[in-house]
Amino acid sequence: MQYKRSSELFLEASQFIPGGVNSPVRAFKSVGGTPLFMKRAEGPYIWDEDGTKYVDYINSWGPAILGHTDPIVLDAIKQQADSGFSFGTPTELETTIAKLIVENVCNVDQIRMVSSGTEACMSAVRLARGYTGRDKIIKFEGCYHGHSDSFLIKAGSGAATFGNPNSPGVTKGTAQDTLLSQYNDIDQVRSLFVEYPEQIAAVIIEPVAGNMGCVLPQNDFLKQLRSLCDEHGTLLIFDEVMTGFRLDFSGAQKVYEVAADLVTYGKVIGGGLPVGAFAGRAPIMDALAPKGAVYQAGTLSGNPLAMRAGLTTLQLILSDPLFYSALARTTQVLDETVSSLLNEKGIQHTVNRQGSMMSVFFGVDQVENFYQATLANHQMFNKFFHHLLSKGIYLPPSGYETWFISRAIGEEELDKTYNAVRSFEP
Ligand code: PMP
Repeated sequence: MQYKRSSELFLEASQFIPGGVNSPVRAFKSVGGTPLFMKRAEGPYIWDEDGTKYVDYINSWGPAILGHTDPIVLDAIKQQADSGFSFGTPTELETTIAKLIVENVCNVDQIRMVSSGTEACMSAVRLARGYTGRDKIIKFEGCYHGHSDSFLIKAGSGAATFGNPNSPGVTKGTAQDTLLSQYNDIDQVRSLFVEYPEQIAAVIIEPVAGNMGCVLPQNDFLKQLRSLCDEHGTLLIFDEVMTGFRLDFSGAQKVYEVAADLVTYGKVIGGGLPVGAFAGRAPIMDALAPKGAVYQAGTLSGNPLAMRAGLTTLQLILSDPLFYSALARTTQVLDETVSSLLNEKGIQHTVNRQGSMMSVFFGVDQVENFYQATLANHQMFNKFFHHLLSKGIYLPPSGYETWFISRAIGEEELDKTYNAVRSFEP
């Protein structure tokens, strides 16, 4: 039986770990079946506990942009481990990675390291509130900014997949400070500014959304947000946890030529180890403790192993001038080939893609916001997912997630993917 060992391990895990997983999106709750327990990953591949090898389009949900277990990153981690793996003191390494980022990313003077994307977004919002002296934020339906209370209002990712976009446990007081708009609807944002004058500290957005499936900003939406924020003294926060160092080294700020006031990072920045970060212009970042009064801290923030993995990953990316164009090209070919194979079968679908992020939505022609993402045929996606899985292709287990393409994916892996799509019967 193909997933035998995973099924046994999942049963056992479910006794000791809530739902058998340490993060809900890992459960195959929406696609059905047993989540695969993985034991090894290298390059474009990941192996489950039954010994089956898969082409990996999740890539640890984004961090493994170089492919898994890059030998140079691995060496760097081993060397660092020999010198110690947690000091709880400043290290030169933290300045080295901060300097590399500030010198190569636009609109960023200072950066503070944390240990997850959740912490990064939560802290950026606190900083925005402290800096502006205002309480409310605007977020977009279907965007996910981690599991901090203010964000679990019409949230994307697992929250959307499992139908709990508003989590129990978030107080009414917190919820009322999170204002909502549809993605790509500038009029709705404008009316929120009219309704809540001088009360909105920040607009937080995934500049390319990846948590309702991949959804792109349309028609200068980001530029219009920038102008509205300027007009109202509100900070614009780009949540680049997915897009940062992935669409470009400077992320969506560069691709869409829009400067954010604060930017949050995660995933690629840690090279596969637990890292998040938030960054921005000096006058705003100066408001943070210990210089300023807005408090934020972390025992493992700037952890040397994590910094070493992140630094080495970022250096490798910077050393290849064609890195992003090659990734985008691979993703474009994947999109176009999968699309034409589905068209040959008469399967209605649309693919949203930017750089090395993409999603296939079945049964619809256009997805530009969360509502449209809900109209897609998610049952068809689930069937597609399981068919590809059975052929050794590992997609994110939900139609509300984005696929992440790594540098390690080449002709052989693409061909294997096309063959799997070719034999898909809806
Ligand atoms: N923001 C975005 C855009 C994300 O995609 C995620 C996680 N997928 C987060 C924030 C939260 O990051 P983490 O899971 O590291 O807390």
